[in-house]
Amino acid sequence: MSIIKKERSESDFHCHLDMKQFSEDVGSIINDFFVESSGYLISVADPYEENSYDRTRKILNLNENIYAMTAAHPHNADNYSNEIEKRIIEFLDNDKVIAVGECGLDFFYNLSKKDKQVEVFRRQIAIARERNLSLTIHSREAEELVLKILKEEKFCQPVVFHCYTGNMEYAKEILQRGYYISFSGIVTFNQKKTDYLREIAKIVPLDRIFTETDSPYLAPEPQRGKTNTPLFVKYVAEKIAEIKNISLETLNKAVKENIERLI
Ligand SMILES: [Zn+2]
Ligand SMILES: [Zn+2]
Repeated sequence: MSIIKKERSESDFHCHLDMKQFSEDVGSIINDFFVESSGYLISVADPYEENSYDRTRKILNLNENIYAMTAAHPHNADNYSNEIEKRIIEFLDNDKVIAVGECGLDFFYNLSKKDKQVEVFRRQIAIARERNLSLTIHSREAEELVLKILKEEKFCQPVVFHCYTGNMEYAKEILQRGYYISFSGIVTFNQKKTDYLREIAKIVPLDRIFTETDSPYLAPEPQRGKTNTPLFVKYVAEKIAEIKNISLETLNKAVKENIERLI
């Protein structure tokens, strides 16, 4: 058997492969991804969705470079229960489930009550601490309180802010604390209002950066408006390499090493 060196090494740190948008062709998407790339896929599994864990278990078996994370999303905080927490903890027993996430606070959509979001976020932090796992944060218009809670909880394992949309000031605080920042397709959007994200991408050191799609949402340019897939993470990586004025290979290698630190 000949070993073909793959030309690309993009990684998608955050995608939702369990979702129904992918149900029929998830196998071929994963196959296509690993034909091109020697990177990693990290899929987010949802304890509130009936079949998410079963689907994710199957997906994890499709390639050795696929891993997963799970946690209670802030959107669903109002429906948190002991049963949900038990499901999360059991799923974390799988060696390929390598992080507690996505969890945090969302004060943009406010789909659950604020105090409930805070309570459930603190529970997720406790789970990550007990299991000695990293945390992946979902924060929308909530960076100040997320950072305050992480400090109050004295959480000292790795923390990644996924699909970062906070401002420069919070980004600096995140980096100063040794946390990581993950950029989604938003960094590619040709809009003045996303210029600030490109400024932030410039200052995030290579040992603290991730690339992600958050697929099926947020397809990057030039695929904007389509259903997003992990295959499109290359556009995110290309944009960040361009912003940082480094080679794509250098960026992708750094992201891979950062993921390897967490798995
Ligand atoms: Zn999110
Ligand atoms: Zn997500």
